[in-house]
Amino acid sequence: MFAIKRTVFALVGALMLAGCAQPAAKPAVESQAEPAVDAVAAGKALEDARHPAGASQLPSGRRDYRNPADVAADIRQIAKARPDIVRVESLPHKTVLGKDVPAVEISHHVSASDGKPVFLLMGGIHSNEWPGVEVATEFAMDLAEHDGRDRRITALLDRVRVIVVPVVNPDGYDVSRGGDIAAKRKNCEVTPATRAQCAAAKDPETGYDTGGVDLNRNFAVNFGGVGSGANPDDGDYHGPAAFSEPESRNIRDLVDGHQVTVEIGLHTYGDMNLHPPGQNAAPLTPDEAVYAQIGAAMADANGYPNKLSRDLYETSGTAEEWAYHTTGSLGFETELAGDDNHGPWEDSVPGQYLGTSKYVSGKAHGGEREALLRDVEAAGNAQYHARITGNVAAGTKLVLTKPGTQLSTTLTAAGGAFTWDVNPSIRPGVDGRNVEESWTVSCPGRSVPVTVGRGESRAVDLSGCQSR
Ligand SMILES: [Zn+2]
Repeated sequence: MFAIKRTVFALVGALMLAGCAQPAAKPAVESQAEPAVDAVAAGKALEDARHPAGASQLPSGRRDYRNPADVAADIRQIAKARPDIVRVESLPHKTVLGKDVPAVEISHHVSASDGKPVFLLMGGIHSNEWPGVEVATEFAMDLAEHDGRDRRITALLDRVRVIVVPVVNPDGYDVSRGGDIAAKRKNCEVTPATRAQCAAAKDPETGYDTGGVDLNRNFAVNFGGVGSGANPDDGDYHGPAAFSEPESRNIRDLVDGHQVTVEIGLHTYGDMNLHPPGQNAAPLTPDEAVYAQIGAAMADANGYPNKLSRDLYETSGTAEEWAYHTTGSLGFETELAGDDNHGPWEDSVPGQYLGTSKYVSGKAHGGEREALLRDVEAAGNAQYHARITGNVAAGTKLVLTKPGTQLSTTLTAAGGAFTWDVNPSIRPGVDGRNVEESWTVSCPGRSVPVTVGRGESRAVDLSGCQSR
């Protein structure tokens, strides 16, 4: 029954996408050993387990903010219930205090290198901004509960690989949720690097943390520029060097190793969907029209206006601006609504996720949940990224790199025609102009340069590739 349902959903998904002038992706998946799971039964069981009488309407049914153990338990629960579509991996670098940073990957054929575009959702890079952690975790649970039961979500997980990092900054989140410094925003880069030292590094007047690096100023594009602090006590201290911090290196390595076509960083509070540039002196990006289009769809759903990042205040060295100018990934920051970084639960989390909060009354259509679903759709929409197509034997491993960068992704072909959803090789420069760069597609025995712009598709001749 499950197999039949999945086929029907896949067909419906293909038709829906065809209606939007998006060709359905060709499966390019080597057969994988994911366990067979009855998606309908597993999703229903998850939902029932989380919704006894009195539970909230959230996928988790929760009625209060999580602590770090709750986030870990929720991730474990969906990975256990849906091992066929959910995979949890630790990002490569442990935090300053030695904690793991889990990333949750959700997609059909989750363990395949299948060339799907990636949607990246990040919470808790600023650890006092709890609603972002809540929304990221709820969205992961939502997908796991509704795959196979909701046609739209099922079709999306056929086309897109979703990666959720619920807490980018677990050391800071532990100090913030632990009550030592509720306003703890930065990481725990303190001397000595201990939790006790991190929890004591507090400004007695403002209540904010003094120690640590603002991870969202530690990225390599515009590092050290306007809107980032040079003093370690600054709330937006950028750190001694770009990527000095293991937590920002995690996001760098994740983006370098995947084709992240759309990326959302969740923050509080500001009621805005923000996209680059973050500096008043910077020109608009060459993708302003695309940003405006995707931003308008988000704004309609979550009820927050679509703005330039600098309209909130100037920033430099942020995760999204780095990803955009390095890979062409369409990076946004969503400043969730509120009147505090972690405001009253009902309006800040369930009301915000579902669009019923007092903050967005009459303006939201579906809330942040709907905005994120539209973002996943944007991540899967080839008009917003690029495609490489070709023909190779089954089992051929292709590697996509860009000379002079660390960008490297792989695809293992199922055989025959393949479609690889990638970011454009032509890269948006910080001067507002596109930079002509090429990808290199390599297989054993052959290497081909490919120049492709946003919305374009390029066929490559890979005859001569050895399959193993
Ligand atoms: Zn923030």
